[in-house]
Amino acid sequence: MAEFEIKVTELDAGGKDFVFPIRVAWLAEQLEALGDAREGLRAPDFEGKLSFFAEQAGTDVVLQGRVVGGLVAECSRCLGAAPIAVDAAFAMLLSARGKGIRPVVGEEDLSPDEIDREFFTGDLIVLDDAVREQLLLEVPMQPLCQQDCEGIPVPESVKGPADLMAEVEPGPGSLAAELAKAGLAKSDLAGQEAPAVQTNGKPRTKRAR
Ligand SMILES: [Zn+2]
Repeated sequence: MAEFEIKVTELDAGGKDFVFPIRVAWLAEQLEALGDAREGLRAPDFEGKLSFFAEQAGTDVVLQGRVVGGLVAECSRCLGAAPIAVDAAFAMLLSARGKGIRPVVGEEDLSPDEIDREFFTGDLIVLDDAVREQLLLEVPMQPLCQQDCEGIPVPESVKGPADLMAEVEPGPGSLAAELAKAGLAKSDLAGQEAPAVQTNGKPRTKRAR
């Protein structure tokens, strides 16, 4: 059953405001349905709010609204809880699809500026998918519990010696060492291309890069 639905016949001539709570249980269900795609996401412990203004424009319906709420993700560094606040404005253009008008999915020729257009059939506009999308759009690629999260602390016993991460000096045989031997700097090679064919028949030496 749809959580957020309105009837087009409810809309007054001048449009109408709607407000719906975004229930914790509804959001939890939505995330559950995402399966593996939800990647550690869960509903926060507070209710969100969907508010929008809807008006008819010919046979279309225009929605302008806002989704306020939150999600809880997994911190990408320490796997702790990373709360995500959502306050997103959205606008939608919904076109009627029915017997007399655009009866077949995909029949209409969409011009480029109509690609974001949504459709509704009959009298009912359901916004569940749109609300879920608005919430998920706010999830960052790498959620953090806090900006300076240092991740899972590595115990001293499993850390390597401190000099392990020190910059390694160029050893013998490295490009830098070979160049130094030849009296060249690395920059001298810049812009030079290796000849495509060796004229003396020797196998071409592999150029280190
Ligand atoms: Zn963290």
